[in-house]
This record gives sequence, structure tokens and C-alpha cells, in this order.
Amino acid sequence: MAIDVLIVGAGISGCVLAERFASVAQKKVLVIDKRDHIGGNCYDFIDDAGILIPLYGPHMFHTSYENVWQYISRFTKWLPYQHRVKCYVDGLIVPFPVNITTVNMLFNLNMTSEEEMIRWLKDNTEDIKDPQTSEDLALMRVGRVLYEKFYKNYTFKQWDKWPYELDASLFNRIPVRTDFNDRYFADKYEGTPQEGYTSIFQKMLHHKNINVMLNVDYFNEVEIIKRDIGNYRILIFTGPIDAFFDYKFGRLQYRSLEFEYETLDLEYFQPLTVINYPNDHRYTRITEPKHQTGQSHPRTTVIKEYPTWQGDPYYPVPSQDNLNRYSKYELAAKDLEKEGIYLIGRLANYKHLNMDQAFKNALDLFHRIEGG
Ligand SMILES: Cc1cc2nc3c(=O)[nH]c(=O)nc-3n(C[C@H](O)[C@H](O)[C@H](O)COP(=O)(O)OP(=O)(O)OC[C@H]3O[C@@H](n4cnc5c(N)ncnc54)[C@H](O)[C@@H]3O)c2cc1C
Repeated sequence: MAIDVLIVGAGISGCVLAERFASVAQKKVLVIDKRDHIGGNCYDFIDDAGILIPLYGPHMFHTSYENVWQYISRFTKWLPYQHRVKCYVDGLIVPFPVNITTVNMLFNLNMTSEEEMIRWLKDNTEDIKDPQTSEDLALMRVGRVLYEKFYKNYTFKQWDKWPYELDASLFNRIPVRTDFNDRYFADKYEGTPQEGYTSIFQKMLHHKNINVMLNVDYFNEVEIIKRDIGNYRILIFTGPIDAFFDYKFGRLQYRSLEFEYETLDLEYFQPLTVINYPNDHRYTRITEPKHQTGQSHPRTTVIKEYPTWQGDPYYPVPSQDNLNRYSKYELAAKDLEKEGIYLIGRLANYKHLNMDQAFKNALDLFHRIEGG
């Protein structure tokens, strides 16, 4: 089997590039993944109880990129879904991001207008001229009382560091609402794929020019692949960038998650897909996929998420050390492009990318390589 393009990783980045190279550029593509499934972290499947669940936590699709929405909509129909999140705080289930309802519920107030909420925030926030840490930024934006109820302990669970130890950039986008809006996202498009995410990736990879091999780790098998299929012209690598360079500039840190699944003899466990637990318990949140997928089933599966340093790499840790190290890897990767080697995706770019950004980056890269 001769191939033109070898793609390492069958997540969004790998699947988009495989589909584009195969269908637009008419190239022969081999996609390998070390996991036993396609779809990367967006993979979902039917569990033993017959419930559609995500293996790596629920994924909410939202975008304002017109071309990304058009592209992905070729592979799926959409169910209407608007994401909302609540937090368990002081024994109450309150809307998050904080809005007027949140403050009314927690402090037994009866605000009804934006003016009142703006005044409340003004009275409760701190005037910090040059915020250095995430704590400074939170105190400026939401004030101490909300910071302590929603952000302080949650950040520690998530990152194993207190907000005063973390750069201000981590909290750059702390959303706080001065009205009753309880939507989590503000993008133009939002929805749930009708048959789940895996079905999208199956359709993308279903092409005569694409072969897929699972349970194949690039680092263990690259020589065998080269021996059996000869040389390829283009290599797309979507795994961790530090591993690709054999950690020559040191290891990059990632935070991981342990998922605990439980199927219950209840139709629903909680009122919506996500409830965060900033202060209680060791887990950060409980999710219930049925609310998102709209599946009708007499039982339900819930997932608890425990942040950990062990396990699959999920979240790049935004410390200065990691960012400095990454910039060395980034330069080295740029240099390989003239040899037809491209590193792309969440792990290769060491960035938390939402799904739509991962789609966009892969479409842009194809355009850059092939002009398609
Ligand atoms: C817990 C979690 C929740 C998220 N929720 C949302 C959400 O609600 N909304 C949203 O928009 N985005 C969400 N995201 C982001 C979303 O998952 C990413 O945008 C998307 O997965 C990026 O796709 P990717 O192809 O770059 O990476 P991945 O999906 O990680 O795919 C990379 C693939 O490469 C494979 N690989 C790595 N190394 C090797 C190797 N040596 N050999 C062979 N294969 C290898 C991996 O097995 C993996 O399958 C979430 C991410 C996480 C971690």
C-alpha cells in the first residue's frame, strides 16, 4: 500500500486533514491512532445500559465560524441544544456564569435590573491597578465574596494551584453577567450532533483514499510503517509536541481527568447536563449526557470528573515555564514544515482548543499546504 500522507491521530485535526487530502487533493491517506477508537477526545459510544455517553466528558459544540459550521454540517444533522451550567454553592444550585439570579439566590436579594447588578458588582469588587495573578483579576472582576464561592477552590481542584500562584491570563475571560442571561455560550451556532460525535468522524473517514489503523503508536511503529508502505510525502502529527521531539527541551506539563461513570435506575439524576462543585467533594463536576443528547431512556449514566496529574494529557498548564519550553518546540516544528512535516492540534500546539478552533486550524492548514 503506497500512501502520500501519514496522519498520526484520528481526532478532529487528523480526521479533517484526512478527509480534505483524500477528497479534495485525491491523495492516499493512512490515519493511525494509538487508541482503539477514532474521534480523539470527542469519542462517544453506547454504554452497557444502552445510553450514548462520551468517553472523555461531554463535548458542547458551539461556533461563530461560518465555514466551520458549514463544513461539519455536511457530516451531521443537529439537535437544538443550548448549554447552561449550574454550580452547587452554599447548599443551593445556582446559575453559572454568575448573573442576577445567582446573586439574588445567594444573598437573598431581589434585584430586577442591570443597573442594580452593576452597582452591586461595583460595591463588591476591588480596585486593583495592575493585576498580576488570577486572584487579582478575579477580585477586580467579581470581588472577594464571589471569588471565594466560585473560583478559589475550583481552581485549586482543577490546577492543583491557588489562583494567586497562577498568571492573570488564566482568568482573562471570567464571564460575569449583569442581566438574567444564563446561556453558557454566546456563539452564533450551537447544537448537538444528531447521532453523536463518533458518527461524524466515521463519515469523514469513509473514503476510498483513506485507510485507518487503530492501536498503533507512531513512536513504536514508524519504522515498520515506513518499511511496509515506503516513504510518504507529508506527515501530519497531532500528538504531544514534546514527545515528537523526544523531550529534547524538557517535558511539558498537562493536567488530566479521571472519569467515574455510574448508571442509575432513574430517568434523570440532575436538572441539566453540567453541575459544578467548586467547594464540596473531590470532583469538579457531575455531568449527565442524556440532557445533551436528548436520548429517551428509563435509566441514566452520570460522570464525575476528578482532576489529576496522571493519565492522558488533557489541559496544557499555562505556567511561564511551560510556555517558554513550548516556544522552543514551536520553533523546531516550524523548521520541519519544509520537509513536509506538520504538527497541529490541541496537543501539538499545546493549547486548549475548543472543537471549532480545532476544525478551523485543520481546514486552514490544508488550505496552506494544498491551496484547497
Ligand atoms: C475533558 C475535555 C472536555 C472538552 N470539552 C469541550 C467542549 O465542551 N466543547 C469544545 O468545543 N471543546 C471541548 N474540548 C476540546 C476538544 O476535545 C478538542 O478541541 C479536540 O479534541 C481537539 O482535537 P485534536 O484532534 O486536536 O486532539 P485529540 O482529540 O486529542 O486527538 C489527538 C489524537 O492523537 C492520538 N495520538 C497521540 N499520540 C499518538 C501517537 N504517538 N501515535 C498515535 N496516535 C497518537 C490520540 O490518541 C488522539 O486520539 C474538551 C477537551 C477535553 C480534554
